[in-house]
Amino acid sequence: MGTRGREIVGMDVNELLDLLNGAYASEWLAYYQYWLGAKVIKGPMKDAVAAELTLHATEELAHANLLATRIVQLGGTPAVNPKHWFELSPCAYDAPEDPYVGVLLEQNIAGEQCAISTYKNLMDITKDKDMVTYNLALGILEQEVEHEEDLQSLQEDLELMMERGTVKAGRA
Ligand code: FE
Ligand code: FE
Ligand code: MG
Repeated sequence: MGTRGREIVGMDVNELLDLLNGAYASEWLAYYQYWLGAKVIKGPMKDAVAAELTLHATEELAHANLLATRIVQLGGTPAVNPKHWFELSPCAYDAPEDPYVGVLLEQNIAGEQCAISTYKNLMDITKDKDMVTYNLALGILEQEVEHEEDLQSLQEDLELMMERGTVKAGRA
């Protein structure tokens, strides 16, 4: 723990640590949801979507790394037991039970939208109080916004393809 670094935080550090640990748990769950989704995926465009899911998995893991570093800096402890991730996480883990590409996209879009709300909230709470965490949350938020758009654009491609495919099949 950095003592001066902790002193300059103008808010309840324990409250902040709870939020950081919640986000940390969410990142691990998001990592696993993406990582496994990329393995089990089935359906049209599965290779393109799997590549994006795999990339996002590595980016979520990098977010977990940034959060763990900040938690330790503030004198906290990142969740030591994975069995607590579900309780700590503000975002749901959506198991990829249905491997259809469209379902996986929908589940992961919902996850990104929850992540966007989580980091927006973290920024609102730390604004003018903890510049280091604010800046960290901004960096992660930028990437979550990018993730949402990546997945929605793949979803749009999939829908267009299915529509056109149906029209073509109907004409044949
Ligand atoms: Fe993330
Ligand atoms: Fe993300
Ligand atoms: Mg991406």
